[in-house]
Amino acid sequence: MQEKLKIVQGKMKEACERSNRNIEEVTLIAVSKTKPVEKLLEIYDEGIRDFGENKVQEIMQKYPNVPEDANIHMIGHLQRNKVKQVIPYVTMIHSVDSLRLAKEIQLEAKKIDRVINVLLEVNVAREESKHGLFMEDVLGMVLELKDYKNLKVCGLMTIAPYVENAEDNRVIFQKLYQLAVDIRAKNIDNINMDVLSMGMSGDFEVAIEEGATMIRVGTSIFGTR
Ligand SMILES: *Cc1c(COP(=O)(O)O)cnc(C)c1O
Repeated sequence: MQEKLKIVQGKMKEACERSNRNIEEVTLIAVSKTKPVEKLLEIYDEGIRDFGENKVQEIMQKYPNVPEDANIHMIGHLQRNKVKQVIPYVTMIHSVDSLRLAKEIQLEAKKIDRVINVLLEVNVAREESKHGLFMEDVLGMVLELKDYKNLKVCGLMTIAPYVENAEDNRVIFQKLYQLAVDIRAKNIDNINMDVLSMGMSGDFEVAIEEGATMIRVGTSIFGTR
């Protein structure tokens, strides 16, 4: 597993070199969903501090046993009735895809006097099987959220389609990047577009080349689920 991690980090470095980017700009989120805490700790011991999970119950079970400086990223679809439970634990929620969910996060975050970092999930490819806002709805959402005091929009996230050839997703990543550029240019109060969470095991190198600042890699580090 440590060997696999080294390979991923090597590929990250090469993708940064190809695209003239600084490796410091790209955070590797080790997607530890379904994997036991021991596996996660082995990766923690290699210096990784960011972990991706997609189920609230699993977060609640695993993370009391993980060092406090590990950052938990909620990358899966989040139901409103689970928000209260999970927000004390998470560094960032990558999967905000509706106003109703955002409202619930604002409400519960206010109760515990925290500001929760979120990304808006965008369904760039308009896949019916996936959650996420359509591109044309993101700006409207951002304008609603700018006044939320306990929720901080930090950028955008997408789950690209499953493809055999990662190159096929390049255009998806380019579109998400451009959307962030366009929204950033509007200088909206309290809205940040610095984070682009895109790229998984199959396509993270292409995502880095197209501007990802967070990549979410599970299988290539931990093996198949
Ligand atoms: C599982 C998952 C990943 C990691 O996928 P791999 O192909 O195993 O790297 C990334 N993002 C999300 C949202 C996921 O649910």
